[in-house]
Amino acid sequence: MNRANHPTRIGIILCDRYASCAGGKCFRALRAREGAFDTYRDREVEVVGFTTCGGCPGGNIESAPEEMKRNGAEVIHLATGFVVGYPPCPFLETFERFIPERFNLPVVIGTHPIPQKYFEVHERCGTWRDPAWAPRLRPTLADEATRRAYD
Ligand code: SF4
Repeated sequence: MNRANHPTRIGIILCDRYASCAGGKCFRALRAREGAFDTYRDREVEVVGFTTCGGCPGGNIESAPEEMKRNGAEVIHLATGFVVGYPPCPFLETFERFIPERFNLPVVIGTHPIPQKYFEVHERCGTWRDPAWAPRLRPTLADEATRRAYD
């Protein structure tokens, strides 16, 4: 893999429902450059922050991106749990707008590929039927074989 010298520094924020998550899928996907990390396939990446939103309604998002930015974060990833949780985070749209506006940092929705078991349930429930979901799912939708590998 021919990666540029300067690493892209990222911060990862989890939905607090998964607060005890050790980051297994996120770090695996980062290593493999899968899901939302596919975009870094030719670059080194350094994770400079990893925390949760602090629980509904996401109070930690008022401060965590700033702390990450001080450590060099150039992008904030809202982990895949924001879109695959039951229900998906109801504040996602607010965070998508707030983080760039307040901290001048771009937001990427997602980290690891959506696991197939979540994909199937949300398809049956019609969770993501609204067209507004399409751009939010795009970074982590992957193909079925990849989604199954993250079940
Ligand atoms: S649903 Fe949203 S606000 Fe609530 S804990 Fe999860 S990410 Fe945070």
